[in-house]
Amino acid sequence: MAEMIGWIGIGSMGHRMTRHLVAAGHPLVVSDAVSLERAPPEARRAKSNIEVAALAETVVLSLPDGNVSEAVAREMVATSPRKVKTVVDTSTIGIKAAEAVADILAKAGVAFVDAPVSGGTAGADKATLAIMMACSAELYERFKPLMALMGKPFYVGPRPGQGQAVKLLNNFLSATALAATCEAIAFGSSQGIDMKTMLDILNVSTGRNSATDDKFPRRIMHGRYDAGFTAKLQLKDMKLYLENARAAGTSDEIAATAVDVWTKMDAALPGADICEMYPYTRDGRRAGK
Ligand code: NAD
Repeated sequence: MAEMIGWIGIGSMGHRMTRHLVAAGHPLVVSDAVSLERAPPEARRAKSNIEVAALAETVVLSLPDGNVSEAVAREMVATSPRKVKTVVDTSTIGIKAAEAVADILAKAGVAFVDAPVSGGTAGADKATLAIMMACSAELYERFKPLMALMGKPFYVGPRPGQGQAVKLLNNFLSATALAATCEAIAFGSSQGIDMKTMLDILNVSTGRNSATDDKFPRRIMHGRYDAGFTAKLQLKDMKLYLENARAAGTSDEIAATAVDVWTKMDAALPGADICEMYPYTRDGRRAGK
């Protein structure tokens, strides 16, 4: 019989990722502060996070931010009697929070795997997430098969927070590429050039990126704007990146500008999908604004 897994946070990512564990035969016990409506029907519904920690040796988190992960870690260690031995956090929480969570758990003898994911809700649906694991090599080997049910696990390094670092630098690159592509396509359109023609050329040229080969042709060109990722959530990741780059003392000029651009877009179009950066850039943003 496959191991019982505890899962805390049945949101956009969590409800999709848990389906693959159920399909692989893992019994599941789940909790969420707001709603368990989207949990797989086979899962046992816990009344609290504490109940999850009392029932499962391995507990996976998919939570909004570092403050919540820290609060849940405190609940885990305060649970008595407690079954949880390892907490795997798939949330994007930044380096400091990952270190804090690891510390809270370690003091109670609970192991921590920093395991943020990339690939969005589509990747969560198709089990094609990139999973960036930072933990001891031994823990990586132990949890690799479980994480492989939801995507492709990578070993980043032994220190909690190293997974977060890769996740954040990836999101910085992807958000910057999207904002820059919006500027470039708006410029090309101003010269009377068809968007599809530009994309066809870019995708076999050196400007190719995840906006030219995915977001523009699939989600922007036909006005769908449906990446399923809000500018607000993306900004959380970008601000964490900027904060961590500054703490590390590495160069931050492009990151600072990208955060500024996305902050203005989020303020202008509250609740917008990241793909709406294109109409915002085309219609709302001019040099100097
Ligand atoms: P979400 O807000 O949809 O889900 C988070 C869930 O956690 C919610 O259901 C919420 O009710 C629950 N929750 C909040 N506080 C809680 C608590 N104290 N105890 C129990 N449950 C609690 O967010 P999401 O989009 O599923 O993202 C989850 C994490 O994955 C985030 O850290 C996000 O940055 C990251 N992520 C998201 C995407 C994406 O495309 N949505 C992609 C990669 C990574």
